[in-house]
Amino acid sequence: MNRFLDQDIMYLKGVGQVRAQLLASELNIRTVADLLHCFPFRHEDRTQVYRVCDLREGMQNIQLRGRIVDFSTMGEGAKRRLMATFTDGTGFITLVWFRNLRNIERMYRMGVDYQVFGEPKVFQHGFSMAHPEMEEMEVVRNRPLLRMQPVYHLTEKLTAKAITSRTINALVANAFEKIRSLPETLSPDIVAAHRLVSHEQAIRDIHFSQSAEAVTLARRRLKFEELFYLQLSILQYARNRRTETLGWSFPKVGEYFLKFYGEVLPFQLTAAQKRVIKEIHADLQSGRQMNRLLQGDVGSGKTIVAALIALLAIDNGFQACIMAPTEILAEQHYAGLAAQLQAIGVRVELLTGSVKGKRRQEVLEALRMGDVQILVGTHALIEPGVEFRNLGLAVIDEQHRFGVKQRAKLWEKNVRPPHVLVMTATPIPRTLAMTVYGDLDVSIINELPPGRKPITTRHYSRIARDRIQAGVVAELKRGRQVYIVYPLIQENEKLDLKALEEGYADTVRAYPEWRVGKIHGKMKPAEKEAAMRDFAQGETQILVSTTVIEVGVNVPNASVMIIENAERFGLAQLHQLRGRVGRGAEQSYCILVTKENLAETTRERMQIMVETNDGFRIAEADLKFRGPGDLEGTAQSGLPFRLQVASIVGDSTLMSETREAAARIVEADPQETLPQYRILWNRLRQLKEDLTNYSDIS
Ligand code: ADP
Ligand code: MG
Repeated sequence: MNRFLDQDIMYLKGVGQVRAQLLASELNIRTVADLLHCFPFRHEDRTQVYRVCDLREGMQNIQLRGRIVDFSTMGEGAKRRLMATFTDGTGFITLVWFRNLRNIERMYRMGVDYQVFGEPKVFQHGFSMAHPEMEEMEVVRNRPLLRMQPVYHLTEKLTAKAITSRTINALVANAFEKIRSLPETLSPDIVAAHRLVSHEQAIRDIHFSQSAEAVTLARRRLKFEELFYLQLSILQYARNRRTETLGWSFPKVGEYFLKFYGEVLPFQLTAAQKRVIKEIHADLQSGRQMNRLLQGDVGSGKTIVAALIALLAIDNGFQACIMAPTEILAEQHYAGLAAQLQAIGVRVELLTGSVKGKRRQEVLEALRMGDVQILVGTHALIEPGVEFRNLGLAVIDEQHRFGVKQRAKLWEKNVRPPHVLVMTATPIPRTLAMTVYGDLDVSIINELPPGRKPITTRHYSRIARDRIQAGVVAELKRGRQVYIVYPLIQENEKLDLKALEEGYADTVRAYPEWRVGKIHGKMKPAEKEAAMRDFAQGETQILVSTTVIEVGVNVPNASVMIIENAERFGLAQLHQLRGRVGRGAEQSYCILVTKENLAETTRERMQIMVETNDGFRIAEADLKFRGPGDLEGTAQSGLPFRLQVASIVGDSTLMSETREAAARIVEADPQETLPQYRILWNRLRQLKEDLTNYSDIS
């Protein structure tokens, strides 16, 4: 391997111990290779310098040249800010700093020529620029001009230590002084067929380029590489599973299944449910391991399908497990299944993080002995200490964060991997599905149980509270129940919790004749469970909640879903939340409550919810509105590798292209022995190793 590339970043010219530590902790840069792979996320054309008199509202980052003529400060303590009046002779703007004031006061002086860079914002009668990047003109003049100035992801800590994009770029330049060549990472036929620039060219151009075209080509090459190896890994995995992985065979439709079907099942299955059960059953008898995705809109009845499949496993002498993303959902599945299945003598147990001590030991022991036939739980199920006697089937419910990696963990639970059924209500676009669930076969429940009335959705602004309340009271009087949901966004948990507590108090006040419960993620599991149970049993009629109820919760008597601050939710999430009602035969309602003045796109988002109940239409619209954001994060966490440059949503064309390329390789070289592709398989192995090492560290 290349010694220099693997060298500790500390020894690179310009780094040293202090910076090495910062680079490692802030950007995960430990070696020279890591540094080269720290790509700028965008480039700025720094040849253009604006005049203050030409500034207009809404401009992005721009450059100015001039001097500071005055400093002043405002506020005290943490609120203290430093301001500088800056002029280039055509007008004045205010530079503002909120953090790190002491260093800044020391660093910048009046009367010196500076080049400043930042986003101008309208401020009082002129413009201001917060925390601009500042450089003395003297330095600027003496530096070779790089037209496409790379902008790297930095953290506050780095900025405070005066490590800027320019610093990173200079370090990369220092590294390149010592690099004679960088090895190619794709096979020549792929490079040629897809018209890619070489790996080395791409790395050079992404950091140092004079032209936008070169940056584009570099980026395309780097994205291609990333996506190609992602696809290669998924397809390799899928091929191995298909050809090599023997699965348990469940030929028997036995007593448990038939008894449940005949005596316990309280309704007729829909045609779609019957069809998917057949599809799954065919897999289970094939002798190969099943990895199947079951898609079905909220309320389409996936749970019962899972239960019936689990019974097939038991009928054939195996254990089954059902895994849910949250404790609440796991508890609910457990409660539902235990009630139905104990009637026919099946032992169901629950295992989550909150099942502790003696109880946990009992469950684990019974599991090992094979006495537990169905184990319901959270991620806790795939932990190493959980041993099954004979696990034959794993059902993963509503889990978008359960990717190839996690599924592989399941495989270790038996001498042959269990069959895996992944259930999801989130329809995702095809290219994305191919990647995240790239190795799965797909079954779709495309029909809701009969007698469901489509949910009526309305959008109100907050001032219409009285009208909403009148509607709610009418439903409560009919004996129905009501959810009121407040957003919970991680970064601002405290504020959101406050909103929830206030909302709860308001609700108690507004509905004095009704009992109101509350539930949120910060409550103890037992409290959550109690709140959920009270609501499910009708002890409380109104449940004030955060999005913990988003997924899967099932209380058929609830007919009203009020979503507060609906503007803060994405469409997919709104749809999931709405799916909590409309589960019984009654007409149900979803009320979206927002502030009054909404951005145009937000208004449209609400409108779509009002117009349609179709999950697929909503998913499409969601992607259009929201952009890749969340979905990307969610999808990413299911992937075998992290993507750095490519976007699984935004680069769907390149995704298809790389998938085809990878498929050709997997087909042409099934044994992984062709000399011309050795480079690919080696690289793939390397990437996987890096990933393992990386997860050991973090
Ligand atoms: P999801 O697919 O969202 O997980 P669930 O499995 O929670 O949906 O089912 C929603 C509701 O529909 C449950 O109350 C369930 O008992 C009921 N249900 C499922 N299948 C049928 C059916 N074939 N006929 C009537 N009700 C059904
Ligand atoms: Mg469900």
